[in-house]
Amino acid sequence: MTVPPSDALLNRLKAMVGPSGWTDDPEILAPRLVEWRDRWSGATPLMLSPATTGETAAIVRFCAAEGLALTVQGGNTGLVGGQIPQGEILLSTRRMRAIRDVDPVDDVLVAEAGVTLAEVQAAAAEAGRRFPLSLASEGTATLGGVVSTNAGGVAVLRFGSARDLVLGLEAVLPNGEVWGGLRRLRKDNTGYDLKGLLSGAEGTLGVITAASVKLFPRPAGRAVAMVALEGPDAALDLLSRARRNADAGLEAFELMARQGIEFALRNIPGQRDPLSGAPPWRVLLEIASPDPAGAGHLMETLLSEASEAGVIGEAVIAASESQAAALWSLRENQSAAQKPEGATWKHDISVPVSQVPRFLREASGAMAAFAPGCRISAFGHVGDGNIHFDVLRPEGGDNAAHLARRAEGQARVHDIAIALGGSVSAEHGLGVMKADEARRQKDPAEIALLTTIRSALDPGRILNPRVLF
Ligand SMILES: Cc1cc2nc3c(=O)[nH]c(=O)nc-3n(C[C@H](O)[C@H](O)[C@H](O)COP(=O)(O)OP(=O)(O)OC[C@H]3O[C@@H](n4cnc5c(N)ncnc54)[C@H](O)[C@@H]3O)c2cc1C
Repeated sequence: MTVPPSDALLNRLKAMVGPSGWTDDPEILAPRLVEWRDRWSGATPLMLSPATTGETAAIVRFCAAEGLALTVQGGNTGLVGGQIPQGEILLSTRRMRAIRDVDPVDDVLVAEAGVTLAEVQAAAAEAGRRFPLSLASEGTATLGGVVSTNAGGVAVLRFGSARDLVLGLEAVLPNGEVWGGLRRLRKDNTGYDLKGLLSGAEGTLGVITAASVKLFPRPAGRAVAMVALEGPDAALDLLSRARRNADAGLEAFELMARQGIEFALRNIPGQRDPLSGAPPWRVLLEIASPDPAGAGHLMETLLSEASEAGVIGEAVIAASESQAAALWSLRENQSAAQKPEGATWKHDISVPVSQVPRFLREASGAMAAFAPGCRISAFGHVGDGNIHFDVLRPEGGDNAAHLARRAEGQARVHDIAIALGGSVSAEHGLGVMKADEARRQKDPAEIALLTTIRSALDPGRILNPRVLF
């Protein structure tokens, strides 16, 4: 049971971090109390920004002893509301920003929680290596945040999600103890996988203060293409051809529906459609190779075979880095392009890859019947079975009326994903938004196990008390 903090307790917390480690200035706090989609806004009596693991441990130990709740925040790009406090003390990782080591022989990078994903990628590149996790939010999302949410992104097909890239963690546990698990081992078969447990725990089992992550060789060759398709069945056909031809070199395979492209062309300055004739569906794919010419050769062979087999229509292969960036920009702006179009019901579902076409057919049909005139922007990492299936209000429709039906609409979409053996959260996590929906997907024994683990580690529920189960 947590309690509201008194001024005396707040003053003791302020003393632990010194004058540059706390604020209650409403102007500084304001952007940290709203999230990217403007769906949640919050409140906090105090933001603490410890600069070290030791300071973080002192704060958490004190809060555990006094029964004070904390909400942990990294870059505040999370999409399920977990990082927005509702009266809890806000614990920000923004001052834990050191890259502690980049080791190209062990192929490991060790960095503190508040380093942004883009900075991690840049530090790896400077050492001639690569950290492959990549998200549209990478300029702001932090290493601690991406590990805590087990973020996915555009290269999961080849490298896995954040959890798959973590070799070790340093974390402050809910009792204030520091777990120094910053290992660098590829093989360590010594019991429970604690780093795996904390990855994706969304800040409920510990505050991650640093992580050691895997690095990879930088590919010498890269080919990016966008192709027109009639539908998701053709996309799966192209996916299996791409896997066969490019094997592990296939890094990204992103499906987009026409509606989302129209939004991007209309609402994002500088966007241009490289394909003519507004195809109903398209795929953006990227192939990498260890030799400079290999990726281009593989892409050309793949697309010419797929074209001859009638699987794809028009295809464009980027001839330069700037053309590749322009193709990626259409994909990365799919979410941002929806904002000016009004209220949206967002979904981040996954199903077995083979079930993607069926999911899209059934969910589109269900939404057309449930919300006539709604506009569906479906896009995502189809190679991972992960679709962002977003249902926007009808053109010129009323935002409030659309939002009033959100819960019911979302439940219908989630039901379809669950019936196909899927998940209600493929990569964004549950946060404060989806725990109830996830209960429908999970076995009761699994929920019981998850809550048992949490209460064993955090009996007072002081860390992110409103997040998860
Ligand atoms: C434009 C855009 C595109 C995105 N694209 C993707 C995508 O492709 N794939 C994807 O998976 N996500 C995506 N996201 C979601 C988001 O970027 C990720 O969830 C990211 O991992 C959050 O990192 P953050 O540092 O901003 O964390 P925050 O938003 O600050 O926090 C997210 C959660 O992690 C917890 N947390 C943060 N830091 C720590 C820590 N050090 N220790 C313990 N708990 C912590 C918070 O309490 C909260 O529950 C996108 C978001 C935006 C805005």
